[in-house]
Amino acid sequence: MSTTLIRNGRIIDPACGLDSNGDLLITDGRIASIHVDGDPSPPADDSIDATGCIVCPGLIDIHVHFRDPHQGQGHEETIALGSAAAVAGGFSTVCCMPNTSPALDTTEQVAGVMQRGRDAQLARVHTVACGTIGRRGETIAPISDLIAAGAIGISDDGDGIADHAMMRRILEAVASADSCFMQHCQDPEATKGSVMNAGPLATKLGLIGWPASAEEAMLQRDLELNADIGARYHAQHLSSGGSVELIRAARAQGQPATGEVSPHHLLLTEDACSTYDTNAKMNPPLRRREDIDALKAGISDGTITILGTDHAPHPAHTKAVDFAAASFGIVGLECALPLYRKALIDDGVLDWPQMLAMMTCNPARLVGLDAEGLGSLTEGGPADLTIIDPDLEWIIDADAFMSSGRNCPFNGWTVRGRSIKTIVAGAVVHDRATAVTV
Ligand SMILES: [Zn+2]
Repeated sequence: MSTTLIRNGRIIDPACGLDSNGDLLITDGRIASIHVDGDPSPPADDSIDATGCIVCPGLIDIHVHFRDPHQGQGHEETIALGSAAAVAGGFSTVCCMPNTSPALDTTEQVAGVMQRGRDAQLARVHTVACGTIGRRGETIAPISDLIAAGAIGISDDGDGIADHAMMRRILEAVASADSCFMQHCQDPEATKGSVMNAGPLATKLGLIGWPASAEEAMLQRDLELNADIGARYHAQHLSSGGSVELIRAARAQGQPATGEVSPHHLLLTEDACSTYDTNAKMNPPLRRREDIDALKAGISDGTITILGTDHAPHPAHTKAVDFAAASFGIVGLECALPLYRKALIDDGVLDWPQMLAMMTCNPARLVGLDAEGLGSLTEGGPADLTIIDPDLEWIIDADAFMSSGRNCPFNGWTVRGRSIKTIVAGAVVHDRATAVTV
């Protein structure tokens, strides 16, 4: 039996409202006991000093792209590199999106990603599987089989499900399998060739605009369809204030709808595109200050409950081209935590326990990983933990990322807050002190 005591940390478990200084004992990869408010701790074989640090459930990101498999896509990311990036950023669990090549639409593909995740021995790697075969929107995927094979959700991320009848069938299948559907809300007809937010700036730059209404239209249709079905419906990477209002109204009517935001949609506006910087090219696009304010209001009032990174590594050559031709997306795992701190805590929107809820118990509940004891500090549950120095100041250096991706508009930013240790099943899989992922 091996025991490790994490000593003198600020132990935060949003799942049960715990926020106290104390110690946490790990025994054989599981959380054995939590000792706060002067409750004495038992002796242990090893100890980790967490003085001045937050000790919380391992962070969970339900929206990453690890590009595996990637036949013919030219991507350099692998599940091993993506997992190293995850644990370096404090994430102990990630969920991979299925817009790979081939797409994750068979039980064999799902099993393969999960196996390669286990082989990497870093983060817990789960996968979301396709709603339609090949993500083409034409033929429904074998949803119940994919979920039975281990997929923790269904999505055609990268594209929305355009066809209404198909969307209804998918929501029904997801509801009957007690899983969740994650929508990339984008009306394809309204966004043909679109590369940045629609408006005067896009016109001035000579770029084709992607209107917020194209996100809102699909979201509104989905929420109307789901009103009768009641599936767990999750809107990914929201960018528009109008979307917040739609989710707020649906939740007020009792629909199990959730929304997600990513760091870039909270910290950058379309102005970042004005120099044709391809690291500002996102899908959905960066929008206006009013949208950021509405997203933050939605976070503050509990309408938006999940933070995701949409970690999207791209080879450098796909960004070193004209803005119109460049790939969409940025890497996010290794700088998300301080960026959320900047956007939400420094701005007074949330405190640490509230923000960590959006990165632990809330995503765990959406995808059912709470049943495995993830996303909370449960005695007897897996010892997945993140130790965070909340005030550590550092400069984001994309060249130092574990990820193969260097496409990061935050490169060079001075930020505060960093994961200093990431622990999965009791094992330290990333240690900032040695700057190595083990
Ligand atoms: Zn997407």
